[in-house]
Amino acid sequence: MEYAEAALRCGLHEIGISDHCPMPHGFDAEWRMEADELDGYLEEVQRVQAAMQPQGLIVRCGLEADFHPSATDYIQSLLTYHNWDYVIGSVHFIDDWGFDNPDEQTAWERWGINEAWCAYFDAVAASANAGLFDIIGHPDLLKKYGHKQPNHAMVHVAENRMLAAVKLANIALEISAAGLRKPIAEIYPRSSMVVKAAKLGIPFAYGSDAHAPQDVGHAMQECLQCLQQHNITHVAQFSGRKRCMQEITHVR
Ligand code: FE
Repeated sequence: MEYAEAALRCGLHEIGISDHCPMPHGFDAEWRMEADELDGYLEEVQRVQAAMQPQGLIVRCGLEADFHPSATDYIQSLLTYHNWDYVIGSVHFIDDWGFDNPDEQTAWERWGINEAWCAYFDAVAASANAGLFDIIGHPDLLKKYGHKQPNHAMVHVAENRMLAAVKLANIALEISAAGLRKPIAEIYPRSSMVVKAAKLGIPFAYGSDAHAPQDVGHAMQECLQCLQQHNITHVAQFSGRKRCMQEITHVR
């Protein structure tokens, strides 16, 4: 409820709630709800939807699903569990390396930076190819702790392959303010990826990735301006897993 109230204070017309999905076998358990908490989550979102309707705030019910090749059947079962408005597919792991976990940063010593970025983009491409998601979450999350995407031919090729997969799968990329709150202090994705995606006609959806009510709507103007600088005029919104494109000038 606090997130929806924060959205009202920001003057938003619509907010999407997308908690981290349960995963099988205790996978990354610290950062997500348990499977037996899913019904409570849905009931809570429905309560918020009912409370916000008279105030004119649309509340969408989503999920941030992890993509991991070992769990696609499990994620598929979650997708049919409820009539979600949208499902974000996020890569937080390369194999068993939780690269966005502050406790797992020493693994960079085992990876070359070019190889890590290629493996990351390959994992994001696989998430698009899985055909499970509506939005790719924070599409260059690997930079979170400051390991910027290197300007190397093999990384560009992997990035291009990933974007081609996103285009083919007809899904959206998230433009997220969360990176501004992290050591990298940069929007996800960086502007050169926005340029490439714009050329391919890949749609974007804005997300604050709020993990606290005060993050709701964070840097929305900055994210939308970044899109507009690259001649993107519309952003994606979702209802019942159907995408509709809304003019940016109507969103802000
Ligand atoms: Fe995430």
